[in-house]
Amino acid sequence: MKYKAVRGTRDIFGDLIEKFKFVEKIAKKIFDMNGFLEIRTPIFENKEVFIRTLGNEADIVSKEMYDFFDKGNRSLALRPEGTASIVRAVIENNLIQNGIDKKFYYIGPMFRYDRPQAGRYRQFYQIGVEIFGNKNSFLDAEVISLAVKIIEQINIHDFVLEINSLGCDECRENYIKVLQNYIKNQNSEFCENCKNKIKIQKNILRIFDCKIENCKKILQNAPKITDNLCENCKNYINEVIENLTKINIINSNNFKINKNLVRGLDYYTGIVFEITTNALGAQNAICAGGRYDNLVSEFSKNSVPAIGFAIGEDRVVEILLQNEKKESSLATKRTNASSFNKIFFITTNKEKHREQIFENYSIIQKLRDNDYIVLYNSEPKSIKSQIRTADYLKVGFVVFIEDDETFNLKNMATGEQKKIEKEKIFDFFKI
Ligand code: ATP
Ligand code: MG
Repeated sequence: MKYKAVRGTRDIFGDLIEKFKFVEKIAKKIFDMNGFLEIRTPIFENKEVFIRTLGNEADIVSKEMYDFFDKGNRSLALRPEGTASIVRAVIENNLIQNGIDKKFYYIGPMFRYDRPQAGRYRQFYQIGVEIFGNKNSFLDAEVISLAVKIIEQINIHDFVLEINSLGCDECRENYIKVLQNYIKNQNSEFCENCKNKIKIQKNILRIFDCKIENCKKILQNAPKITDNLCENCKNYINEVIENLTKINIINSNNFKINKNLVRGLDYYTGIVFEITTNALGAQNAICAGGRYDNLVSEFSKNSVPAIGFAIGEDRVVEILLQNEKKESSLATKRTNASSFNKIFFITTNKEKHREQIFENYSIIQKLRDNDYIVLYNSEPKSIKSQIRTADYLKVGFVVFIEDDETFNLKNMATGEQKKIEKEKIFDFFKI
């Protein structure tokens, strides 16, 4: 084949798309019930939106951004994450107000020019939320619990919730001095990327996000922001944890304070969190989020605190597929089982194929209106060939269109077959 999907991208169909749909359905239900409103922003923005929001030095800006000039010579970029565009959108459309919880969710593709590998695509999907309006430890616990709830309801239970605080401007500034002092003799041992981060005071915390073993090793015994928080910030993270315990999100097995947890972007302040699993090897984060109280004021005169998270949909879907493989005997049964609500209509007179379908069209539509999937061949085919197709499509029932009054109805799972009056088909399917 001459053309292939671009490196790092993939086509999503079959079992895979079913898992995506399943995850999105559960997430949307939870969002709806918690009063979140959907927001869809364009997948590209003025590049400046990302630079200003995420920081020039963030890897996803400096190395991984899909940026380009359009025919009008505008400098644009495909979105590498959701928050920047949403902050731009809520300010532009005047959707937020200090003191009122405004909750938004989004689902869609993100783009990063990263090295493709398991769990890392160049086009990938995120399900995320952003809440604007208030800052309090109750809200933070609720947002975190929402992420946990989605993960649990899609049937992932083997995960750990990791929390940390990046402190306020004051305690962070003090801590940075302590850290700089600690690493000053080991600067040369860090990777190039970390060396660059160390040079810029506001990026120095990001060295904790480095995935290179040697850097991680040097930082093992380094002083941590968590141990250098001011009284306020210390109380705040403790309250968040206490609240999470009160709403039954935390048990000792699935929770830890991760003092090395920082985020790779400029905008985070205070509470940050991640949900990780052991199921995925190196790419173990399935959800990441935190507070960004100073971001809105970067773009507007108002200062509105905010918190959000993003779930990596590709990675959670991968876990679901793995789990299904593990229960493979069960899974085979499930995929072999014909689905009860799928019906295939078979025409019995090849010459009158279309007429037979048309004559029964209102019945077919009524079944569809009542949640039955109804299928038939568009081309006239022999009865035998239609049965083969029905088998291949794993339908629960076939309906032979016999004469004006009756259907011959066959249950594909049991092989049972019976003639019924046409109108009785609705009783049979409990409509
Ligand atoms: P990581 O360090 O785990 O690669 P990140 O910290 O860069 O991810 P975030 O920007 O916090 O990722 O995005 C939130 C979630 O989106 C991640 O936890 C992950 O599940 C998912 N994600 C991020 N990048 C990719 C990618 N290239 N391919 C697939 N999923 C991704
Ligand atoms: Mg990360």
